[in-house]
Amino acid sequence: MMPFLNIRFSFIHRLTFAFNKKLKYSWIALFPLFFLDCSPKRHPKLTTSPLSNFVHIEQVIPDVLYEIRYAGRHNFIGRPIDGYKKSTAMLSVPAADSLKKVQCYLKKRGYRIKIFDAYRPQRAVNHFIQWAKVSDDTLMKREFYPQIDKRDLFKLGYIAARSGHTRGSTVDLTIVDINTGREIDMGSPFDFFGNISHHGSRQINAEQQAHRLLLKEAMLQFGFKALPEEWWHYTLVEEPYPTTYFNFEVK
Ligand SMILES: [Zn+2]
Repeated sequence: MMPFLNIRFSFIHRLTFAFNKKLKYSWIALFPLFFLDCSPKRHPKLTTSPLSNFVHIEQVIPDVLYEIRYAGRHNFIGRPIDGYKKSTAMLSVPAADSLKKVQCYLKKRGYRIKIFDAYRPQRAVNHFIQWAKVSDDTLMKREFYPQIDKRDLFKLGYIAARSGHTRGSTVDLTIVDINTGREIDMGSPFDFFGNISHHGSRQINAEQQAHRLLLKEAMLQFGFKALPEEWWHYTLVEEPYPTTYFNFEVK
């Protein structure tokens, strides 16, 4: 009986994924929220990456929301980042599985997750480094790093030669209210370089603090750890590739 069930399950997911690809994900926001299967059973592996242990997040969480900043211009550089060929997000299978539990937990409370970034190829990190060396390229300074001298971005740790994202089990995300369809107020925007983005910042109000804690509580409960400097950034504690930095494209 089990093999039959697996075949049927796999077929439905393939069909969903093909439909999803065809409509370029625009239907995801409208997809009925109750379609997410929150049971602990394993999803089929429908890998389109060069690695058999990576998935697109929407394959595991069909109703996930995306705003993949590095695939477009609304990011701290102001241009699409190398290695992002498509507005999608990939993670290692264990990280995606844990994230699905976060989504289920939050949906019971009237929220859902929105992804800004997940697996990040090394060529994208290299793009950040090259950009950081050009001191007069400050197109997006006002929005993302108004109080920081671009030359200090390395020294202060906002940009580094290696990123946990490149290991495939780190994700940048926020929470959206299911009723309003809007992001809840976290006190500072994603990728804002400054103290206000730190966990425990005193520059934000009690409600904003509570919103950050809601995300943190959900993520920590299902195996992720936080980064003190960025409220949106989480890494799977038991990451499957703790020392491997990948370079395949996001597509
Ligand atoms: Zn991050």
